[in-house]
Amino acid sequence: MKVFKFGGASVKDPDSIKNVATILQRFANEKAVIVVSAMGKSTNALENVVNAYYKKTGTATELLDKVKTMHYEIMQSLFKPNNEIFAHINDLFVEIEWVLEDEPEETYDYIYDQIVSIGEFLSTKIVAAYLNEIGVPTTWIDARDVILTDNTYREARVNWKETEQKMLAKIPPLANNGFVVTQGFVGGTSENFTTTLGREGSDFTAAIFAFCLNAKSMSIWKDVPGILTGDPRLFKNVTKIDRLSYREAIEMTYYGAKVIHPKTIKPLQNKNITLYVKSFKDPDGAGTIISSAIEDYYPPVVVVEKNQALLHISTRNFSFVAEDNLSHIFSLFAKHRNKVNMMQNTAISFSVCVDNLPERILPLLEDLKENFKVVIDENLELITVRHYKEEVLTTLKTGKIVLLEERIRNTTQMVVKEIPAIERIA
Ligand code: ADP
Ligand code: ASP
Ligand code: MG
Repeated sequence: MKVFKFGGASVKDPDSIKNVATILQRFANEKAVIVVSAMGKSTNALENVVNAYYKKTGTATELLDKVKTMHYEIMQSLFKPNNEIFAHINDLFVEIEWVLEDEPEETYDYIYDQIVSIGEFLSTKIVAAYLNEIGVPTTWIDARDVILTDNTYREARVNWKETEQKMLAKIPPLANNGFVVTQGFVGGTSENFTTTLGREGSDFTAAIFAFCLNAKSMSIWKDVPGILTGDPRLFKNVTKIDRLSYREAIEMTYYGAKVIHPKTIKPLQNKNITLYVKSFKDPDGAGTIISSAIEDYYPPVVVVEKNQALLHISTRNFSFVAEDNLSHIFSLFAKHRNKVNMMQNTAISFSVCVDNLPERILPLLEDLKENFKVVIDENLELITVRHYKEEVLTTLKTGKIVLLEERIRNTTQMVVKEIPAIERIA
């Protein structure tokens, strides 16, 4: 068994979907589970629908119509008007419309999962129908029937034992009859409610299938030639890394490399399943191979996390920020689900870098302010460099003020702020 994952960019329009089908035809003789994300940027578009509905702006239906138009245009290009796919897709949109008809009564996170997950159902229905249409035998399955989670909406945790049992019972017989196509990102609770695994979670979904089905390999098909030494959207001089150990891949994704979801690697490492990161634009390219290979020589790899905030926490009476305070502070970070991206302490102050997400930070600040003074710096970037070289760090610091810097073995991290143009001239 093999597991393939195709992200949003690979199915963003009719030609892209045809390209995915062409890639899959090369593997016609293999047993494979194909995990597919929502098309293009439709997850963001559905998030906008949820926000409009929840905040009662009156624009939710209009925003949903945009998502509808995009999917109908794709279908009109791929299928004849009498194809039953049109009815299936219509049913999915009706599901959202029913929700939008009533006032929002449930929690935001619950509503989010019920609506945003539909993006994956739309894309997988269309891709599976297209594959069958062109003569590639394919079974569509509902990932909620096999990926069982708790009810932490928007960040559900997988119940591995049950998931493994369900998958082993259901998938291998279906895979004998052709490809099995399913949704990334979604799961189901024991009470049949829909959950999601966190943004960009489809890579993780593919790893869950690979782990539970003891796959021989997993391939994720991206719009880049493989894993690069930095994000090509931010840096010009990036090169492809041909091989990575699981360990190095875990480190890179932990620090925020956007190319793979951070939870993806561990399940693969546990079963020694090779991960290929390949380009759907150049399927013959070698891509990047992630395996248990012995540690190699690595070039400097840069990971940039934007939209960071630095919280400077100090005691009100100038007493030391000692262990008892720290354990209280950490418990509040955990309670409000703020991930500590970097930290440093002085005698009376403790500085923590976190993602600047108001919905997570504001409740944390409320609690912290009961006992501590907190000063916040915003609009910061956290730059992590693995296998750093001095000249790379110097280049990265150009035009920036470094607020915090730390070097541990082969990793350097720094929290930086752009120097405002006026200061730079002076
Ligand atoms: P998918 O649609 O499969 O989820 P993503 O858009 O999430 O794909 O991930 C691919 C993108 O990740 C690339 O287009 C690239 O801009 C970005 N990226 C960030 N860091 C890296 C890196 N180190 N190597 C390759 N791509 C990277
Ligand atoms: N569609 C989801 C998202 O955009 C999951 C994924 O693509 O990985 O976050
Ligand atoms: Mg992604």
